[in-house]
Amino acid sequence: MTRPHASRKHQVLVIGAGAAGTSVAASLLRQRPGLDVGIVEPGDVHYYQPAFTLVGGGAYALAKTARPQAATLPDNAHWIRSAVIELDPDNQQVVLCDGRRVGYDILVVTPGLKLDWDGVEGLKETLGRNGVCSNYDPSLAEYTWRCIRSFRGGRALFTQPPAPIKCAGAPQKIAYLAADHFRRNNLSSVSEVSFLAAAGALFSVPDFVPPLEQVARRHNIDVRLNHNLIAVDGDRRQATFAVTGGEGGPTTIVESFDLLHVTPPQCAPDFVRNSKLADAAGWVEVDQHSLQHVRYDNVFSLGDASSLPTSKTAAAVRKQSPVAAANILARLSGRPGDASYDGYTSCPVVTAYGKVMLAEFIYGGKVTPTLPLSPFKESTFYWHVKKQFLPPFYFDYMLKGRERDIPHRPQR
Ligand SMILES: Cc1cc2nc3c(=O)[nH]c(=O)nc-3n(C[C@H](O)[C@H](O)[C@H](O)COP(=O)(O)OP(=O)(O)OC[C@H]3O[C@@H](n4cnc5c(N)ncnc54)[C@H](O)[C@@H]3O)c2cc1C
Repeated sequence: MTRPHASRKHQVLVIGAGAAGTSVAASLLRQRPGLDVGIVEPGDVHYYQPAFTLVGGGAYALAKTARPQAATLPDNAHWIRSAVIELDPDNQQVVLCDGRRVGYDILVVTPGLKLDWDGVEGLKETLGRNGVCSNYDPSLAEYTWRCIRSFRGGRALFTQPPAPIKCAGAPQKIAYLAADHFRRNNLSSVSEVSFLAAAGALFSVPDFVPPLEQVARRHNIDVRLNHNLIAVDGDRRQATFAVTGGEGGPTTIVESFDLLHVTPPQCAPDFVRNSKLADAAGWVEVDQHSLQHVRYDNVFSLGDASSLPTSKTAAAVRKQSPVAAANILARLSGRPGDASYDGYTSCPVVTAYGKVMLAEFIYGGKVTPTLPLSPFKESTFYWHVKKQFLPPFYFDYMLKGRERDIPHRPQR
């Protein structure tokens, strides 16, 4: 059977120029400057998403999280300013939203994940109004800070949907910042702060649960697990939660609020979910060590869109990107790739203004700090790392395909 006509073809085609797509493309071109790399990306702006939490807490300017896409893409990559709507791995092609087909020898699938705002009834209608805010969209993060700053007491609810989500610590970080802000403004006695999570534990790695529970207790935050936000009535300021795990079976409860910070449900993008590359849950099904697709060996994936069983963060991407680049270059040379990813991810859990607990771990939830500091202690040093060091490190080092690194080690 002949292939459908493709308007162009690249040796390596990358879908999505976020943290993962940009760093892999840059690494490939740094190591092999003559490589023909195409990147499909519809957006004009590249955001440093990890700082959105600080924007929502009033500790960082939104403008500093954004750089023009043209400035972050590698110079010698071909930018295809469009979006992919279909994957056709049997013909080694993707279909763009204008119907054009682009062919490839190697495909790198890095379109991130989909924020499913429609997954909570009534949410979209009231986002950015009625005290309903979210740090998960740059156009809304500043409204979070307005809500926190103008709060004069009452009920503040912070929600976390079922896993997986990007940066699983982000929903609680903003709860801690808000509670700390209320305390500093003598509002603690008139505020009731609740953190309601769909999960059955405050954090996915058991070792971090006790220290984080202590942080929540110190802030007097009422932590309610197995509570999944399913509907919001912004005008009446009411949120409905599905509650599981109770003795009487699943039920729903309605909570009133003055401030509601929502982390939306998250899933794989539709064109990935509906493709032959997806696993049963919709993510790009790759080997957890080689990052190579389990059925199509000329396809690789990393970052939020991948099936990698680790927490979805930019920190994880930093360790995945060199592995993907090495294995792609090996394949282009006709050799088997032997680079291997160990599941490293990290989450700088902001526990108050000026304080961060840096959770670093690999597959199996094994704690693996990079620096010889206790990972379970809140640290001012890590606050400065998060706020001052990591944003320029991301834009000017990681996105440029630079890979020198300090190794992480199992906690002794
Ligand atoms: C509030 C918040 C806090 C966070 N905190 C942290 C933190 O403290 N530490 C940390 O390490 N990480 C954090 N993260 C997570 C981190 O930002 C992501 O895990 C990381 O950006 C994932 O990289 P990615 O390349 O897979 O996806 P993204 O960086 O999201 O990039 C995906 C790219 O694909 C493009 N794209 C989408 N659809 C298509 C399509 N159809 N065709 C072509 N291109 C497409 C998008 O426009 C985008 O540019 C946080 C995220 C948020 C939202």
